[in-house]
Formats: sequence, structure tokens, C-alpha cells
Amino acid sequence: MEDINSHNILRLSELIEEAEHPVIVTHMKPDGDAMGSSVALYHFLRRSGKESKIVISNRHPSYLSFLTEGEAGNALVIHDDKPLDAAKTINEADLIFCLDFNAFHRTDALEGALEESRARKVLIDHHLNPDRDRFDLSFSETETSSASELLYHILMSMPSVSGDAGRLPSGCAEALMTGMTTDTNNFANSVYPSTLEMASSLLAAGVDRDRILNFLYNQYSENRLRLMGHMMKDLLTLTEDGVAYIVLDKKTQKEYGISEGDTEGFVNMPLSIGKVRMSLLLKEDGDRVRVSIRSKKGTSANRCAGLHFNGGGHENAAGGRLDMPMDIADISKAAEYIETHTHEFFKDNERND
Ligand code: 5GP
Ligand code: MN
Repeated sequence: MEDINSHNILRLSELIEEAEHPVIVTHMKPDGDAMGSSVALYHFLRRSGKESKIVISNRHPSYLSFLTEGEAGNALVIHDDKPLDAAKTINEADLIFCLDFNAFHRTDALEGALEESRARKVLIDHHLNPDRDRFDLSFSETETSSASELLYHILMSMPSVSGDAGRLPSGCAEALMTGMTTDTNNFANSVYPSTLEMASSLLAAGVDRDRILNFLYNQYSENRLRLMGHMMKDLLTLTEDGVAYIVLDKKTQKEYGISEGDTEGFVNMPLSIGKVRMSLLLKEDGDRVRVSIRSKKGTSANRCAGLHFNGGGHENAAGGRLDMPMDIADISKAAEYIETHTHEFFKDNERND
């Protein structure tokens, strides 16, 4: 973790010290790592005597609402609910932390406000190809499980914590454990030696992991499980190239009454099939289709997302979008698009090998 050095830690301490209006921003449709890292930093700043705001484009899914009970919830500004407040908060910030994303456009509705902001900016992220030029200070590391883990190592290096996880505020420690847990899919992927060290130290410091797991994995609706059954039985298609894909149209989403976050984790499931090299889940969302991609070692989900789905992400977990009618006329054309483009992707890969 090259960026975590004494020079950068000193700079970070100075920036926090000088800030009067710190703001934390994370990516659109925030997931566990986005919310976990943001809420963790909020608690740390508060302990350092700094009241910050957390600005997000869209409300976080309900299984993460335990993170924003209490003070962190009062600090939350959601653009979808209060667009003017969100823009004003970013406008008035003198220090902005950008967590769990690598470029401003990943915040969707907040992009313009971030572009215009004159505040100092700090990046804390684990994605490929960070936009380092846009930041006064960057902590960017891809060899880590999550933004939450990266933040954990940064905070452990700060003078007020000095390597003792017991000195992290309890809300901070719980949120860090949450973000790492969701981004590793509960220790199924992207686990490094440093990840287990983090988990061990946080447990020893008193984080209640059972409580977190109960919120994350045992509070879903009945419909979510029934939809999962329907998707795996009736909607899953396998291609000759070892691609598994599912298209979830608006009608089906409505039929099962599912909400944001309910399909979390489904895209990973087809990777359990031996011959599957890459799995895609397409979800119709207004006039776009959101794409989630997961791949096994040797296949780059990031490359496929970049080349064919207007997106990017990590080597084996990436995402993107298809716009209608630009990329496909309507949702009924999604299957054909996937088959053609993933076939081309694997043909190109073989040529390059
Ligand atoms: P998910 O499938 O869980 O939504 O996203 C997986 C990964 O891909 C995340 O790390 C996320 O940052 C990245 N990702 C998802 N959607 C997009 C997108 O539209 N553009 C880019 N560049 N990355 C994305
Ligand atoms: Mn992440």
C-alpha cells in the first residue's frame, strides 16, 4: 500500500485539521463498501472534532440502514430526495473525500457539483485507473479487498489511532467491517492477508460480526428468495463460450415487488457452474439497463465492461450500462446483444493470447 506513507498521512492530518466543512461523497447506488467506508470516515472525523456531511446520489438499500441510525443518519444528504441541499453541501465544502470510486462521473448526479467545487479533494479508492489528477491527495490501491479496508489501514496509521483498532470509534469499526464483508462477498473473493488482519483486529476490538451478518444476510423479503429461484430456474442462459447471463426486465421486477439491493449477490451464483467463465446480470432501470459482470480468474470482467458495456470496475467484478435505444432498441434485444458481444470478446481474447 504505497500511498499509505508518512508524508501522505501527515498531509491527510493537516487537511482534516484545516477543514471547517468536510464532506464525504461516494458512488451512485451505494453498496455496502460505499456506505461502510463513508459512515466509518464520518465517525472518525467526528471523533477528531469535525462534523462532516455524507452526500449520496441515491438512497442506500434498507439492509444497510443500520449504518445510518443515529448521528450518521443526520449527516446524510440524498440527492434524489433533496437535490438543492446536495448541491449546496458540496458547494460549501472546503474538503471533499471521494470514497470507493475512481472518477467523478461514477457519482452520477453529483458530477457537476464535484467538477465545480474548489474544495481540496482526497481520493480513497480501490478501483483500476483512478483519476489522480483531480485530487490533492490520493490513496489508491487495487490490491485490497475494499475501500473500507484501505480506509482501515489509513486510519490505523493516523496518530490518534497509532495501530490500535481499539481506538477507532465503535461506529467506525462496525462500518469498516461491514464494507469489507460485502465487497468480499463475506470472504469469498478479494481476500488478502491484510484483509484477515483487519478482520482479526476489528473483532478483537469488539466489533459484533454476528449483528452485522444478521442485517446483511438475514433480513430479506420472501419475494427476494422466490425471485432468485425464478431467475436461476427460468431466466438463466448459458452460451457456448462459457457465459452465463440473466436479463431481469421491469415487468418481472414489479411482479416480485423487489427493491434496490434485493438482487445483490445473484450475479455471482452462476460462477459455481464449472464451465462458466463469466456471469452477467442485466437489470432494466428506466431507459437504461444496468449491467453487473463477474468473472473467474483468466477472464477480465473489467475489460469486457469497458469494451462492450460502457463501464469498468475490477478485474473480476465490474459493471456498466446499456442505453435504450442507443445501444439496444429495447429490453427484448438484450439477450442478443450479450451473446454477440461476449462471443466477440472471447474471440478477441483468444486472438490476443
Ligand atoms: P456491481 O455489479 O456490484 O454493481 O459493480 C461491480 C463493480 O463494478 C463495482 O466495483 C463498481 O464500482 C463497478 N461498476 C459498476 N457499474 C459501473 C459503471 O457503470 N461504470 C464503471 N466504470 N464501473 C462500474
Ligand atoms: Mn468497493
